[in-house]
Amino acid sequence: MSPHILVLGGTTEARHLAADLAARPGVRVTTSLAGRVSKPGAVEGDVRIGGFGGAAGLADWLRAHHVDALVDATHPFAESITANAAEAATATGLPLLVLRRPGWQQGPEDRWHQVTSSAAAADLLPRLGHRVFLTTGRLGLAAFAHLADLHFVVRSVDPPEPPMPPDTEVLLSRGPFTVPDEKALLHAHRIDVLVTKDSGGQATAAKLTAARELALPVVVVRRPPLPRGVDAVRDVAGVLERLGLGGG
Ligand code: NAP
Repeated sequence: MSPHILVLGGTTEARHLAADLAARPGVRVTTSLAGRVSKPGAVEGDVRIGGFGGAAGLADWLRAHHVDALVDATHPFAESITANAAEAATATGLPLLVLRRPGWQQGPEDRWHQVTSSAAAADLLPRLGHRVFLTTGRLGLAAFAHLADLHFVVRSVDPPEPPMPPDTEVLLSRGPFTVPDEKALLHAHRIDVLVTKDSGGQATAAKLTAARELALPVVVVRRPPLPRGVDAVRDVAGVLERLGLGGG
């Protein structure tokens, strides 16, 4: 029987994993996307889009589609779906692997201020600067909406939705970004502070190098913890190995 693997996606790593799994004879892979992005990148294998209806709905889907293993390769800040995956795996008795790219590490020349929430980042901002490059995602602007005295430059793939700060300029683009481009952007918009989640990965790390080289402060929102008892694997190769599919 071909194993059927459900990958909870929405990240570059999930796309790479789906491509690796789809290339293996006898393996069936389905990637699940939340449906937040209007034009998601191409994904190998089967794709389904939209919520499951909580942990119970996900467990039903796993049973109905005869899934043999569940891989949560969602973004490190997608806390609800990760909690649902853990609960659904327990309910169905299926193996769960969590694929999480490592977080970014602060270097000696970085001027990072690490906080545990967007609300804490918003509290700190007025003391650090007035022209903010905000890269926490288009759905996370509400925490900053009351900061009427600051100018925000927000970058996202799709247009952000209110509530958001009144003085907001939107740049629509999708990574990866280069260090020279990020420096040019920071210069052009006279940015004096950057806000980011600790997403990790290469595609959006250039802004941190650019901020370091320009000696700008960066507010870094740290990741939420994983559900209790859940271990993360750091890369696609680790997932393949744990699934018994490593080595090509
Ligand atoms: P979330 O808060 O953890 O999830 C909210 C609800 O959206 C979940 O309860 C689930 O609905 C549905 N959902 C989320 N991911 C799903 C998936 N892969 N397949 C099917 N349903 C999914 O997630 P989020 O932060 O809104 O992120 C949504 C998606 O965008 C994730 O897939 C994530 O990988 C990706 N993403 C998130 C971020 C970020 O910063 N949060 C950044 C880049 C990409 P039901 O309860 O109805 O099943």
